[in-house]
Amino acid sequence: MWLLLCSEGGIYMVKKYLILFLVIASFGCGKKASFESQRWSIHSGQQPPQLENVEAYKDIKKQTKVLKVSDQQVLRAPQRIEGIEVEGTWYQEVKSPKGELISVSYKFAYDIDKSIVAQAHYIEATKEEIIKKAKAQFPNLDHEGEIADKHTILVESSLGVQPFLKVTVLYSNENRIVTYYLNSAGRVKKTSINKHDFTDGIGVVYSSAPTESELKSEPLRNLKGDGVLASDHLSIESAISPTPFSQNNIFQFQVDDREFDILQAYYFVDQTMGWFEDELGVKLNSSLNIKLHIGGLKPTNAAFFYAGNIRLGEGDGVIYEHIPRDPSIVGHEAAHAYVEYLSGLSFEGEPGSYSEAFSDFFTAIRLGRPEMGFYAYKKADYKRTIDNDMKANKDFNGGKYNDSLIISGTFWDIKKILGSEKTARLAKYFLIELGPGGKISDLPDVLTSVAHQHLLSEDWHVIESVLEQRGWRN
Ligand SMILES: [Zn+2]
Repeated sequence: MWLLLCSEGGIYMVKKYLILFLVIASFGCGKKASFESQRWSIHSGQQPPQLENVEAYKDIKKQTKVLKVSDQQVLRAPQRIEGIEVEGTWYQEVKSPKGELISVSYKFAYDIDKSIVAQAHYIEATKEEIIKKAKAQFPNLDHEGEIADKHTILVESSLGVQPFLKVTVLYSNENRIVTYYLNSAGRVKKTSINKHDFTDGIGVVYSSAPTESELKSEPLRNLKGDGVLASDHLSIESAISPTPFSQNNIFQFQVDDREFDILQAYYFVDQTMGWFEDELGVKLNSSLNIKLHIGGLKPTNAAFFYAGNIRLGEGDGVIYEHIPRDPSIVGHEAAHAYVEYLSGLSFEGEPGSYSEAFSDFFTAIRLGRPEMGFYAYKKADYKRTIDNDMKANKDFNGGKYNDSLIISGTFWDIKKILGSEKTARLAKYFLIELGPGGKISDLPDVLTSVAHQHLLSEDWHVIESVLEQRGWRN
């Protein structure tokens, strides 16, 4: 027989036999609901499950009509408790045209607390009010959408089972359905999106700096699909402007709109992330958030990265202008996340020089040009370039950016001989081996070590001659 026992809120199957003894419902069990599922078919050679004493089964048998599906007779329904559906539960039995039982499958919930059911009834009784509250908090809920269905549902969660108002919104012209789970305060606890095959959105942006490219439709990877400009790994917000929203995930703004800069910066970071994933096989283990328009209505020259956050001002119009449109600055800040992830390097002192050097280096490789700040910096053609001839030991001055240029310049020299792909890979392994406390003087040893591991021996001499020529051996 099988014995279903309650223990620590769970149900355990002890033995599978013919007859079912149930120890269910209110006594002996904790408050936390549990679920149990089974699948039986006539081919198993075993007896079908005996569910005569299970409330959910009795209820379904009483309430549900048998359907004819093709030539089979199917009885199929979710479990309901006092009329309220328990999401994810079901019972199904299939009979042959002759009436022979062919299969039984089900998932039932047990031990749902009475107070939870009472809350569910309250939600059901106040659902119009809940929807009103939700619309006030989330105007998007109402935006071009039509509520196709709303009903109270009990949902399995880490807390057992929780009641929600499940609202299904149809965005008719985009063939898209979004389901919102609202709590009694009208807050969205969970959404699920039935997308129609397209996961990528489109942004009408510059593919590089505005001076070097035309506005055109570019892919925005892996958008969540709920209309907000965000993926599971990247989000963006502005200090003064709402986050762009587009029901069909196509984002297009006038170039003068603040939303345009939000979109453009999002695109550059998204491209950077895609490059690290595709070219170097590096995926961050946490998500990035971009905040734009730092300084609010008084534009600043802010551009920095800290703990998963990229902060960008617009530029004061004197030293920098249109920072979010400069792919080297936005890309550099995003690259910091990868440098930190690979190496654990901090931003201060000598580790800080490495951090700057490799954020520049990866950005330069990706954009195919060594100048940083080439679009937004107004005082010169660019802020700095890694295509320089500064020498180790001779030109060090302890300045974070100054010293970083010797490191990045060394790698840029290697890139000129070995090419972008090999050198970017080398840089990746270099950072991993260097680790959090890397000193500048560690560079020759670590570089030689990773070159011997990750380059063919015929390329080793390249590393040595660049180290020599850049003054690292003096
Ligand atoms: Zn930096």
